[in-house]
Amino acid sequence: MKSILVLGSTGSIGTQTLDLVRNSGGGVRVVGLAAGSSWRELLDQARELGVPLLALADPEAAAQARSHLPQGATLFEGPDAAVELVRAAEFDTAVHGIVGSAGLRASVAVLERGARLALANKESLVAAGEFLCALAEEHGGEIVPVDSEHSAVFQCLRGERLDRVRRVHLTASGGPFRRTPLEQMRHATPQEALRHPNWEMGPRITIGSATLMNKALEVIELHHLFGLDRERIHVVLHPQSVVHSMVEFVDGSVMAQLGPPDMRGPIHFAIHHPDREPSPLTGFDLASFASLTFEEVDPERFPALELGYRCIELGSDAGCVLNASDEVAVEAFLAGRILLGDLPRINAAVLDQRPGLDDSIDALLRADAEARALAAQAVAASHPSPHPL
Ligand code: NDP
Repeated sequence: MKSILVLGSTGSIGTQTLDLVRNSGGGVRVVGLAAGSSWRELLDQARELGVPLLALADPEAAAQARSHLPQGATLFEGPDAAVELVRAAEFDTAVHGIVGSAGLRASVAVLERGARLALANKESLVAAGEFLCALAEEHGGEIVPVDSEHSAVFQCLRGERLDRVRRVHLTASGGPFRRTPLEQMRHATPQEALRHPNWEMGPRITIGSATLMNKALEVIELHHLFGLDRERIHVVLHPQSVVHSMVEFVDGSVMAQLGPPDMRGPIHFAIHHPDREPSPLTGFDLASFASLTFEEVDPERFPALELGYRCIELGSDAGCVLNASDEVAVEAFLAGRILLGDLPRINAAVLDQRPGLDDSIDALLRADAEARALAAQAVAASHPSPHPL
């Protein structure tokens, strides 16, 4: 029996994790749940699955939840609630689906426990990759990626040597605007940008998939997870989202991992690795994917992608700054305060003004705060979009 924590249990990754638990035939037990403010949903989950330890980051939501707690349950409250939950619980794996750099401290806490971090919260690695990888090594913990592309690379590399990798082909669907005229894409509404052709995900990552900023963050994530420099990371558009990524070795062989676009696949793998356990997921009908296509990324359409490569070269706080800026800019886009086309421009400008701090956690948290302030200024100086969500 595996004991897991589900951080971000009310979101897209969290609810899919709980779906796997329901179908695990009792093989996976949830011992802790954390969310931001969705207290009713969190309590429903706790009651249904008999979860004893709960965390809510939003103090007002926590105050509401307090009088409705299931018998015997403990609630941690406030911005560090998820961290306190991680420190108090006994678990094998934390499935980490909190969105944004708010998840960084929880990643640190899991690795300090020497446990497995099944990581969907890519922002942790983007902001503090070197620090987290060192922490995993120091405490005997491990990071198993949940992002489908990185899970694919992880699976292709099992039993292989990293110095035998020529390059990784990281696939990207290209989002809803792959063929949209550029000026129309620039003025796309949040509703249009949230209409991802293949994946059902939370709003931040869905907007990032429309601009390829999400892929820029994944380039940084890949760099930290597998120690790859920019020359060994190739992003390729693959609209069907069936090949989750490919590894090309020095002998010219290419290994790919395929599956339907369903995050329960990589979550299930991350919980059970190194075993392959049966799952409720069906495979897929190869004949319905008779045509799998690949194309190069057009840098004029997707200028955000280059920012990921720049962060690898800049190192130190660059990933942290890019991520923080993008969190602010995406929120502004969803609120109708900037255009979709402003997102990469704002993020590039903030990256140019980055404070250039070292990569200790305290310095990174300062860099995060400074980048948010710079991005807020850039948002205020932009033209509002007429299309709030
Ligand atoms: P969602 O927006 O759907 O869910 C976010 C979750 O985080 C919610 O449970 C939310 O709680 C919780 N949360 C937000 N802030 C806090 C906080 N301060 N403390 C504790 N919990 C908090 O996001 P996704 O599930 O789409 O994405 C989660 C992460 O996984 C992101 O990093 C994303 O990039 C990554 N990812 C997601 C994929 C997907 O298919 N969705 C695919 C690959 C990666 P509440 O409901 O209360 O706000």
